[in-house]
Parts: sequence; C-alpha cells; structure tokens
Amino acid sequence: MLAFNQLSYWERALYLQDNTFIIVGAGIVGLSTAISLRQRFPKEKILIIERGYLPTGASTKNAGFACFGSPTELHDDLQKMPAQAVWETVALRLEGLELLKARVKPEQMAWRPCGSWDLIAKQQATLDPGFIDGLNRTFKQNFGLENVFSIDQEALSQFGFAGYQTSYYNRLEGSIETHLLIDALYKQCVASDIHFLFATSLEAFESSEHEVLLHTSNGEIKTAQLLICTNGFSQAYFPNELKPARAQVCITKPLKHRIRGTFHSDSGYYYFRDIGERILFGGGRNLDFEAETTTEFELNHFIQDTLLEKLQNEIIPGQKVEIEAQWSGIMCVGDQKKPLIRSLNKNVHAGVRMGGMGIAIGSAVGEALSKMV
Ligand SMILES: Cc1cc2nc3c(=O)[nH]c(=O)nc-3n(C[C@H](O)[C@H](O)[C@H](O)COP(=O)(O)OP(=O)(O)OC[C@H]3O[C@@H](n4cnc5c(N)ncnc54)[C@H](O)[C@@H]3O)c2cc1C
Repeated sequence: MLAFNQLSYWERALYLQDNTFIIVGAGIVGLSTAISLRQRFPKEKILIIERGYLPTGASTKNAGFACFGSPTELHDDLQKMPAQAVWETVALRLEGLELLKARVKPEQMAWRPCGSWDLIAKQQATLDPGFIDGLNRTFKQNFGLENVFSIDQEALSQFGFAGYQTSYYNRLEGSIETHLLIDALYKQCVASDIHFLFATSLEAFESSEHEVLLHTSNGEIKTAQLLICTNGFSQAYFPNELKPARAQVCITKPLKHRIRGTFHSDSGYYYFRDIGERILFGGGRNLDFEAETTTEFELNHFIQDTLLEKLQNEIIPGQKVEIEAQWSGIMCVGDQKKPLIRSLNKNVHAGVRMGGMGIAIGSAVGEALSKMV
C-alpha cells in the first residue's frame, strides 16, 4: 500500500490538503455526521477515513430493525437508569428515525412499516398491563404519539411460534435492509462532495490551537476539526465509559414460514425478522457476556448453536432449519444506554456508544456532532 508521502501532487490536493473536517469511521454515524456537516458547511472540505476496505463495525452487519424501544427493554431500562435518561434516549431515537426517513427515501432503504412484536416466553414473567397503559400515556405526553403499544395474543398462532405465552405490539417500529441503508448514505456523501480514504486507520492524534495532526496507518494528515465515530473501537478515548459488545447473527436458507415483521424477545437480547423466504436471527450476548466483550469478529459457537436451537424449537417449530450464513458484528455499550456525544477538546469531538439502536439514533447523533464544531 502506498504511504501518503508517495502520493502524487493530484492525490495530495484531493485527499490530504485543506481538510476542514476529518471524520473517523464510515459507519452510520460517520456518514450521518458528514451529511449534517455538509448541510451546515456547503463549501468546506470533508474527508472520511475508514480503516476497513468497507465499513467494518456494526453498520453493515446489523439486523435492520428501525427500533426505539420494546416494552420489556424499556421496563428493564427503567429499573436500571433514571427515568429522565430513558426518555431522553427514546426521544433521540425517535428524532433520529425521523431525520433518517427525511434523508433516505423509503424505497432506497426498503423501509417497511411492519411494527414489531416483543415476545414473552412461557417461563418468563409478563409485564403488568398497567405498565403498557403507562407507556402509552408517556409516549403521548412526551412525544405526541398515541396508542403505540398493545397486547397482541393473536400473533403467536398467526406467525406459528411455539414457546411464547404473549406478545406486545409496537405499531411504529419497522425494518430496513441494512446494505441498502449504508449504500444510500454513502451515495449521499459522494454526491455531496465528501471524500473517502478507505484502508486508513487512525492510530493517534495531536491537537494544537488551530489544527489536529492525525497519525494514520498510511502517514500524517491535518485537519481543523476531527470527529471520531468509531463506536465499539473507542475504548482508548473513554476507557471507563464504554466497551465493545460483539453480537452474533445467522440467516437461514430459504424455507416456508409465515413470519412477517420484526420480533424481539428476552428484553431485546434476541431478535429475528423475515427477509423474504429467509429468517435472520441474532442475539444471545447474555449467554456469554465475557467472551462477547471483544472487538474480534469471530463466531461464538455456543451462542450460534443456541440460536439454531431456538429457531427450530420456538420460531419455526416442526421444520428442519438450515443455516446459510453466520457472522458477528461489534456494537458499543456502557453503563448508560445514552450515546456518548462529547468534545475531547475544542477541535476533537466524538459520537459513540450507540448500543443496539444505531439505525434510529445514528442520524440524530451525527446532527448533534455537527453542531459541536
Ligand atoms: C449483529 C448486530 C445487529 C444489530 N441490529 C441492529 C438493529 O436491528 N437495529 C439497530 O438500530 N441497531 C442494530 N445494531 C446496532 C447498530 O448496527 C449500531 O448501533 C450502528 O451500526 C453503529 O454505527 P456506528 O457508525 O456508530 O459504528 P460502526 O458501524 O461500528 O462504525 C464504526 C467504523 O469505524 C471504523 N473504525 C474503527 N476504528 C477506526 C480507526 N482507528 N480508524 C479508522 N476507522 C476506524 C470501523 O471500521 C467502522 O467501520 C446491531 C449491531 C450488530 C453488531
């Protein structure tokens, strides 16, 4: 690979010189930040550096749920976090989802307003019906959204599940197709005169009064403002506030099923959806938190085997399920579920810790970051 100091006059002029903004990371947040910056600064030079030959974190690996909170997950959050922090995070997700829908046309990302079901296993405790009523009141009062959640007993037989006793329906969640979303955001960046250097990893940076010097795997490069959007790979900057969280996913070979929509269970630890004749199924991090606290893209066979077992016994019972592909991706979590949006100094800003809802929240985080420069 050529180092920066081996580049031509033309290449230096295009990529290396006079960058006002350099964004690190070409995931949903990096691309969204670039688009928001372009809207605020039509003439400034914007460069995204990405260490992978394609975005290599969570944004091209995820399940494609456009979600903002299932009842059991919100119930869990309210036990662990102050209520204000829970509702502020939901507000950011809703705001992000609206911004995303304003930027990317439904057909460009295969937006499907299918709703979502939060499934309660037979051995699990159901939520107090008063909790669902309370959620509906809060959503109406805080966000002006009426009757978002309901109890849906029919879903279990409608979709042919076994092993569940009831479900809670969220009428406002939906799905997108992951590859289409990242492609649409990338194309919007290119059309907005935003440049990319792939296979370029930020190794360190030094800030002075008016600029930041980046040391990358290919050499040095300067910018006026640096924006760090490296999510699960940001522990060096915030050692006590976030950690990587690997997530396992598998997809079946085509099969006959009646599943249409997006489904969560076990407080969001498991999730599945249909993709045509296939079912995508992910989760199970709670089976092995320790092993899954890593930035290594590897399969956890214990979790993958559990996913297959659940597919066969609970989701598509009575059929032999064959797996077409398995993969893992790296998310970012912390003690708090709120994203971490913070300036490290007056020229360096970070938007990280997206948790499991970066599709909805990513655009809002990018917008917030663009206002910090
Ligand atoms: C399996 C899985 C399923 C998920 N399902 C859903 C879902 O259904 N709905 C939902 O909303 N969310 C889901 N998520 C979470 C969602 O994908 C993330 O919250 C979101 O993609 C985070 O986007 P990001 O841009 O912050 O991070 P990333 O997509 O991880 O992007 C960060 C980028 O930074 C790059 N990078 C890292 N370090 C450096 C460096 N030093 N120099 C240069 N580049 C660097 C990485 O290569 C990466 O491309 C899922 C995640 C996973 C893993």
